[in-house]
Amino acid sequence: MTTTVTSSGAHPTPATFESLDPRTGDVVGVHPVHDEAAVRAAVERAGQAARWWHELGFAARRRRLEAWRKALVNRLEDLAAAIVAETGKPLDDARLELVLTIDHLDWAARNAERVLGPRRVSPGLLMANQAATLAYPPLGVVGVIGPWNYPVFTPMGSIAYALAAGNAVVFKPSELTPGVGIALVDTLSEIVDGRPLLQVVTGLAGTGAALCRAPGIGKIAFTGSTATAKRVMAACAENLTPVLVECGGKDALIVDADADLRAAADAAVWGGLANAGQTCVGVERVYVVEAVAERFTAEVVERASRVRAGAEIGPMASPSQAGIVARHVEDALARGGRAVVGGVGSVDGPFVDPVVIVDVPEDSVAVVEETFGPLLVVNRVPDVDEAVRRANASGYGLGAAVFSKRRGPQIAARLCCGMVAVNGVISFAGIPALPFGGVGDSGFGRIHGEDGLREFTRPQAVARRRFPLPSVTSFRRQGALMKALVGLVRLRHGR
Ligand code: NAD
Repeated sequence: MTTTVTSSGAHPTPATFESLDPRTGDVVGVHPVHDEAAVRAAVERAGQAARWWHELGFAARRRRLEAWRKALVNRLEDLAAAIVAETGKPLDDARLELVLTIDHLDWAARNAERVLGPRRVSPGLLMANQAATLAYPPLGVVGVIGPWNYPVFTPMGSIAYALAAGNAVVFKPSELTPGVGIALVDTLSEIVDGRPLLQVVTGLAGTGAALCRAPGIGKIAFTGSTATAKRVMAACAENLTPVLVECGGKDALIVDADADLRAAADAAVWGGLANAGQTCVGVERVYVVEAVAERFTAEVVERASRVRAGAEIGPMASPSQAGIVARHVEDALARGGRAVVGGVGSVDGPFVDPVVIVDVPEDSVAVVEETFGPLLVVNRVPDVDEAVRRANASGYGLGAAVFSKRRGPQIAARLCCGMVAVNGVISFAGIPALPFGGVGDSGFGRIHGEDGLREFTRPQAVARRRFPLPSVTSFRRQGALMKALVGLVRLRHGR
């Protein structure tokens, strides 16, 4: 990071920071560090755009969001290139991320009015003279703070739904992927005639913190680590700004005795290693029932051995991320785990080849903490009950996967987490109608689906008197009326 002072020395130009290609360390771009004043100015501008956007109404907003969806399709290759440049992930992974994003945007645009539009609800017997209506107006300006691992898909889980709900957005992308954030925001600009409906502020932690503290923010939607989420919440507490926090996970995949073992192994390997394991809902732990453990593990070994860093998977996003993977591998092996694919030597600079370790003690860091790397722990369990117990023993509760031919949904129902894929992996994230989010250390609140739209609104209840009735909420009420009312309640609810 640099701070430059102009020749007069009077007005310092903004500090800047570089984004790098994690494969090579080459500089991809140089971006301003937006300070508190710049962030506040962006939020103020967004306030005006939010009023315009809200007043447009659902139909006009939908038309513009559909135009944005088309623009994203047209710019798919440019955006994919921007993602690859700052994350190093394979081009097809970047494309897949964009395909899913476009589908979510489409769903949010098409469903906002149905989910959020004003509707009448029953006033109930006691209030029969009232018309009751419910509406979900937007919050105004939503601040979105994003991570680097899926630099379009993840923040768009908040941005697309917040915009569809009628809000303006100020987006702070990760300092590792600011160029992607800028490229994404650019795609909307023309469609809204350059209005500051979706703005980007770039910078490090301080820029994110400034966004949390900015007056005029209706909600902060944060996606990132649990440790940062706590700091975000503390900053938001100053203004009582509501927060949605999507944090890390330690997702388990359970393999039942009757599972399709090839499909389960394929899912474990993809779920654990895709994006070099840097997926919040990636598979980090596998619990396989003893009876099929040997055959399942052989299938996993066969598949994982073919995955190479620098080909099927990209690099770690940062040196610190590779350091965490190395620490987890070393700890698992030191405590008696057995590497069946790779080992300590698999961590080589930013590139980490897949590591699969079996029989890892449940209290080792590789089982307890989020690894966020291409490390898969495979532990045998006597039965599914024990698998469920261990899966639920984590402080995290984001997603999970279950492979079972006969009782997938029953096992899923016993898991304490936000999302479960049955006979698949991460499939829930690609279904726009399903809410996405976790419990415990994985956070709270939901993006995607109807819940994801409502997340960026405030429910507003209106009761309108349609015709007068003798009232009990008046100092002139009659005793006889209260008696009749109590009689009615006895009749209706007392039996
Ligand atoms: P991170 O917590 O380091 O950073 C996330 C964002 O927060 C960045 O934009 C960063 O600049 C900003 N930030 C940092 N300090 C801040 C502060 N004090 N105030 C405000 N903002 C601040 O996370 P990361 O390393 O970018 O992402 C990886 C983590 O994200 C993993 O734990 C992963 O599991 C999680 N994640 C979760 C989901 C989900 O939907 N649940 C999705 C993707 C990633």
